Amino acid sequence: MSSTAQTEKPVSAAPLTAGHQAALAWLETGPKRLLIDGRWVDAVSGKTFTTFDPATEQALVEVAEADSADVDRAVVAARKAYEQPSWTGMSPHARTRLLLKIADVVDQHAEELAVLETIDSGAPIASTRARSVQVAEIFRYYAGWPTKIFGTTNPIDGARFLYMLREPMGVCGLINAWNVPIVMAANKIAPAVACGNTLVLKPAEQAPLSTLRLAELIEQTGMPPGVVNIVPGYGATAGAAIAAHPDIDKVAFTGSTAVGRAILQASTVNMKKVTLELGGKSPNIIFPDADMDLAINAAVSTFCRNSGQICSAGTRLFVHESVVDEVGERVTALAAGYKVGAPFAPDTQLGPLISERQMERVLSYVDAGREGGAKLSLGGSRVGNVGYFVQPTVFAGVSNGMKIAREEIFGPVLSIIGFKDENDAVLQGNDTEYGLAAAVWTRDVSRAHRVARSLKSGRVWINTYAEADPVMSMGGYKQSGYGRELGMESIEAYTQTKSVMMRL
Ligand code: NAD
Repeated sequence: MSSTAQTEKPVSAAPLTAGHQAALAWLETGPKRLLIDGRWVDAVSGKTFTTFDPATEQALVEVAEADSADVDRAVVAARKAYEQPSWTGMSPHARTRLLLKIADVVDQHAEELAVLETIDSGAPIASTRARSVQVAEIFRYYAGWPTKIFGTTNPIDGARFLYMLREPMGVCGLINAWNVPIVMAANKIAPAVACGNTLVLKPAEQAPLSTLRLAELIEQTGMPPGVVNIVPGYGATAGAAIAAHPDIDKVAFTGSTAVGRAILQASTVNMKKVTLELGGKSPNIIFPDADMDLAINAAVSTFCRNSGQICSAGTRLFVHESVVDEVGERVTALAAGYKVGAPFAPDTQLGPLISERQMERVLSYVDAGREGGAKLSLGGSRVGNVGYFVQPTVFAGVSNGMKIAREEIFGPVLSIIGFKDENDAVLQGNDTEYGLAAAVWTRDVSRAHRVARSLKSGRVWINTYAEADPVMSMGGYKQSGYGRELGMESIEAYTQTKSVMMRL
């Protein structure tokens, strides 16, 4: 739909694929339960919560609501599994085959998983189809690792023998956000399993369905009971119980910086090892010698992707002052043509935000931008009156000190900021409490690498934005995180080393 048209009902907007029918049939099977010790069970309290379609505001299905009693059960199951020979004795080759089977089963159910992710989170179907492909790739990438995780033999004087073993962490507590739920689940489950851990995962309460279905599929591959446990529920109860649990050895969290801070504090109860993937306010820097068509396309797609609900979105667009007006006009014109609409329409580029609360929050930042003196050159309003759709929104003439340039908005809102020279671009780009991602656009190779080195950020792209690969780690400088995820760095994060010395 255009910015003025009404929202279509996503479930009926397009002819149903077989995968779409399978997803709807799965929803029809009734309330979703917790996965504990290889069985699907109700919460101890008997409570459930409702998950909603953010495009239609309609209730989708009831989901069992885990709290601390359920987290306790799941941790007991995970601990037991961690000590069973069926898991600890499983050869690295067998773990590789298991992960490859998961990748295959994801491929077989790719459309169904994409549809569930779209219904539950509002992300356009074209992007959730790409997520299914990405999830299978993540499992295949980590399937290659179990046979390559090894220690070292360390040089020492001849009377002694010293070697280092690399071992799993144990029971891992995994807590995810709602914006790309199935990819975040794969980012954590695949390396945790590859390294021989067991796990208790809490998906976000706003969009738990694709993770639950993925877990069902994982159970079909012969995963020993208790290795993968799933406990949907709220952050203040189930999430906090994971963070503070005395028998969880490691926590991996993706979400806001504020909650990340609380998790780090709670982890001190037993000195859990912690990795945190947090928020961002990423600089995207365009020099006048850039390939402007590519740079402008990426500048728009990065702040519109997933309706701006992406941690690494390039929401601060820095443009050299000699071209800032021209680039601003072209960015605005391109973004104005982006289609906001029903997530199942094949040409939709922006679906709804996840919730009314998130929509209100984003719109309040639009007010803050206006009040702060920035020029609203596009958008700024809700679209329609059903579903949480917001127009692509562009502010020009922003200064890096304004609220809209400092705080993570997590919606389709771009701030365009001018810079004088390379030094100024780097200084302003780094002038933020975050440091998750950044990009630089220039044809000057030396400048590209100089700027990439100077940016304080866990990921930097040169002449591209947001390209990902399981090999490429991500994580935050400053308050964007703690540790890294993906690539070899997840292997390090899900293992610990032991030095063994022997006197000969
Ligand atoms: P959030 O921090 O509110 O919630 C994330 C998860 O933490 C949810 O599962 C929630 O239930 C749980 N939680 C909430 N309070 C908790 C508590 N006290 N103890 C334990 N768990 C708790 O974040 P959100 O609004 O769901 O997600 C948006 C945020 O996530 C943004 O800041 C975004 O930048 C960030 N994010 C980061 C990455 C990354 O890789 N760095 C990726 C995606 C999203």
